[in-house]
Amino acid sequence: MDMDAKYADLRRAAEETAVVDAHAHDLVAAGSTLPFIGCFSEADGDALALAPHSLPFKRSLRDIAALYDCDPSLEKVEEFRRAQGLSSITSKCFQAANISALVVDDVSTLDKTLELESHKAFAPKVYRVVGIETLAETIINEESVVGSSWTLDSFTEAFVAKLKSVANKIVGLKSMAAHRSGLEIDPSVSKVDAEDGLRKELATRRPLRITNKNLFDYIFIHSLEIAVEFHLPMQIHTGFGDRELGLRHCTPFHLRAVLEDKRFVKCQIVLLNASYPFSREGSYLASVYSQVYLDFGFAFPKLSVQGITSSLKELLERAPIKKVKYLSSEWLFLEKLNT
Ligand SMILES: [Zn+2]
Repeated sequence: MDMDAKYADLRRAAEETAVVDAHAHDLVAAGSTLPFIGCFSEADGDALALAPHSLPFKRSLRDIAALYDCDPSLEKVEEFRRAQGLSSITSKCFQAANISALVVDDVSTLDKTLELESHKAFAPKVYRVVGIETLAETIINEESVVGSSWTLDSFTEAFVAKLKSVANKIVGLKSMAAHRSGLEIDPSVSKVDAEDGLRKELATRRPLRITNKNLFDYIFIHSLEIAVEFHLPMQIHTGFGDRELGLRHCTPFHLRAVLEDKRFVKCQIVLLNASYPFSREGSYLASVYSQVYLDFGFAFPKLSVQGITSSLKELLERAPIKKVKYLSSEWLFLEKLNT
């Protein structure tokens, strides 16, 4: 039996299954400062200029050009996009990907992002995931004077109240700790240290962009408590990203203290990005901690075909197969998606 015939059923199932894109960022309007080439790579500056010479770029470009039925060059694809307009090309891509629902986070700082509601033109169902660091910064930045009157107690009260007020309208929380202070989250961070962190942050410029690890850890732990209370999954960026993150602080192994904490044995933690290049570490964690799930959706467009294969193999080396998901968490969200 040749390979095509052997995997025909699998291929058909993969092509016919509608996906829930549970790791989506807002679409951006035409004219956004986000360069199209930036969708292919996390690099910037001179490094981004070399992205077209990478295998993931060449494959993605070839696939998009085939979908658009145009020449496989960046110029021709961009020309097609401009001529067709945002609405037309978005519908085309969403239909080809067979996306039935979108779970969009609010952590994007991209230029000209669309409102959540307008995504409904492309996916039948659209849901929101709240970025906990973004929420914390929004609350603090609403008081615009440097050195404002926030205390840790008043901030915590405002943060928890806001999160609880939206908890029934969202389908998950998301942490970008990897991009700021790393994943070595201390679940026992003291109030004194967190307060000190808040004081230092308030003394800096506005709008505030939190980087203090103690304050981050404190925010994360309070958020995870709320996630448990409201049965919301917590998505955590792990592994690769842009230059902002220190990759060695982004292996999911660093989450051990959180996973071992008795308060969080019932939480649901979704490790995003296949934890690449730490896919094996993610797989191990998913095999020994019931709380850990693996999502590889966002990682694979950024890898070569061989990279996709080896990363998926690593994810499956130990983890229960049902905890390894493509653009997923769909079943974590299922209860809410059906209401
Ligand atoms: Zn993300």
